[in-house]
Amino acid sequence: MTLQATGVRKSFAGQEVLRGVDLSVPRGTVTCVIGPSGSGKSTFLRCVNRLERPDAGRILVDGSPIGYERYGRGLRELRHRDLARQRRHIGMVFQRFHLFPHLTALANVVEGPLGAGRPRAEATEEAMALLDRVGLAGRQGAYPAQLSGGQQQRVAIARALAMRPKLMLFDEPTSALDPELVGEVLDVMRGLAADGMTMLVVTHELGFAREAADEVVFFDDGRVLESGPPARILTAPDHPRTRDFVTRVL
Ligand code: ADP
Ligand code: MG
Repeated sequence: MTLQATGVRKSFAGQEVLRGVDLSVPRGTVTCVIGPSGSGKSTFLRCVNRLERPDAGRILVDGSPIGYERYGRGLRELRHRDLARQRRHIGMVFQRFHLFPHLTALANVVEGPLGAGRPRAEATEEAMALLDRVGLAGRQGAYPAQLSGGQQQRVAIARALAMRPKLMLFDEPTSALDPELVGEVLDVMRGLAADGMTMLVVTHELGFAREAADEVVFFDDGRVLESGPPARILTAPDHPRTRDFVTRVL
């Protein structure tokens, strides 16, 4: 199991946004999270890579508790700098592309590995291969403003992959894109899934979920209301709220 979350809770200003989330993603599989706006999907992803600190619950990535290190027989909470090191194993792609505007595509991709102490020649060679993998061979010298939204999002995926993550998190990666650019980003994600990347993807693209997901999880009001294989959740869910959601989004 690459990701194993149990009983994750989070409140903001007394308002409980995650009310005990249990969710696992076996190694080499794709889980898609769907659900209404405000149901806690982004907050859950942010807890997985510790951009938010859960109030309760446990999140293991490859067996290691996120936000903690082993200390004697127990655990102690990581400080900020050590958290950054742990977070390197988890790639995250956001709705907005989050590229550095003053850096070329290549420089955006190599920035993380160089910061982690990898030799420049090796990091550059790997970054060029990643740009090729996301369909951007030849565009390494382009700045974000010279690229389409779909191209920028593919650079963002290459940038996350450059850290050789064990787990990739995607938070509505195509929601900010013009419709004609959605397919090229989903194609890259399908390729990653086919190559065996472990992925947790929040998306409204139910077509993608149907083809690429091993499991679909429906979030409602801070909990997992139901989960299962896409063929069941997207066509014959148990719960009326899930049924209502999938018929409205389709
Ligand atoms: P989703 O991604 O499913 O749309 P979110 O996780 O973004 O849902 O948000 C769930 C709820 O938590 C919303 O009501 C949102 O306003 C609230 N929320 C999220 N982040 C914060 C924050 N940093 N401070 C206060 N409230 C927040
Ligand atoms: Mg969200």
